[in-house]
Amino acid sequence: MGLLNNILENVELKKLTTFRIGGTARYFYKPDTFEDLVAAKKFAAEKNLPYFVIGCGSNILASDEGYDGLIIKLGKGFSDFKFENDTLVAKAGAPLTLLARKSATLGLAGIHLLAGIPATLGGALYMNAGAYDQETGQHIVSIKVLEEDGSIKDYSFEECQFGYRKSVFQNTKKIILEATFKLTPANADELVEAQKKVMESRKTKQPLDLPNAGSMFKRPVGGYAGTLIDEAGLKGTSVGGAQVSTKHAGFIVNTGNATAKDVYDLTELVIQRVYENSGHKFKLEREVVMLGKIAP
Ligand SMILES: Cc1cc2nc3c(=O)[nH]c(=O)nc-3n(C[C@H](O)[C@H](O)[C@H](O)COP(=O)(O)OP(=O)(O)OC[C@H]3O[C@@H](n4cnc5c(N)ncnc54)[C@H](O)[C@@H]3O)c2cc1C
Repeated sequence: MGLLNNILENVELKKLTTFRIGGTARYFYKPDTFEDLVAAKKFAAEKNLPYFVIGCGSNILASDEGYDGLIIKLGKGFSDFKFENDTLVAKAGAPLTLLARKSATLGLAGIHLLAGIPATLGGALYMNAGAYDQETGQHIVSIKVLEEDGSIKDYSFEECQFGYRKSVFQNTKKIILEATFKLTPANADELVEAQKKVMESRKTKQPLDLPNAGSMFKRPVGGYAGTLIDEAGLKGTSVGGAQVSTKHAGFIVNTGNATAKDVYDLTELVIQRVYENSGHKFKLEREVVMLGKIAP
């Protein structure tokens, strides 16, 4: 009963993604407890609808047609975390930047340079988000996951199969619940200082004044997406309301009224032009997760 009362209908995905793009989701629910989360999964199964867990929505391109299913956003009960000696145990809804900041002030190295990535821990582990030579999965001891069949499984570091923007959780319906990290004791002042520097560098290099989803493309082996796009003369190129950022060519920004189709079409153009300009050496791949029907 509690669940049914709190499920929202026709929620705009625009409001749930940093790109500020997307049609409406049929259902939206923010569970505060594990029991609520299990009930939400059951609700979707009974309605024969898919579900999708969203974090900060900072790596998502959501369809203009919306999502005919249930969007689940982990609520209050999923954001606790605790540092004990060099170990951090955190729930999946905890903000990554908060964990990174705390770890630095406590003198624990390993995730401190991830501050500034606008992610939940769950989304960051799913993507194995990284920056400045650190990756979210690097110092994982284990991850607690709600499996598709309703069971709970603890994944060891090896079982997570982390790679560049890769984890075993991608393209599954597994829900990350909690993670345990083992960090490295270090000088707190130095960590805080290094963290400050990378956060300032984000402000100067990234187009944070316009809605975006971070780097649109993965870093290809042997090159940098931003540099290749710049070299192809594509900075500032637009399709509808989507534009290759003039500040950082690896970012696509929403200049106001971009649709998912605008962004998708612009990525197609970028991939094609970079491929041609690099003498068929680099074929960029999108990093951003597509939600709902986007590609033709
Ligand atoms: C300004 C800006 C800067 C950025 N900088 C970086 C950067 O430096 N490095 C980098 O790697 N990325 C960066 N990103 C991209 C993005 O922040 C990361 O990919 C991040 O990991 C997404 O986390 P999220 O919680 O927002 O997940 P979402 O974008 O909401 O979701 C991403 C994927 O994770 C899945 N997911 C989320 N939570 C869970 C869960 N609990 N269980 C299972 N699956 C889950 C979703 O279903 C989806 O498939 C940036 C984005 C922006 C807007």
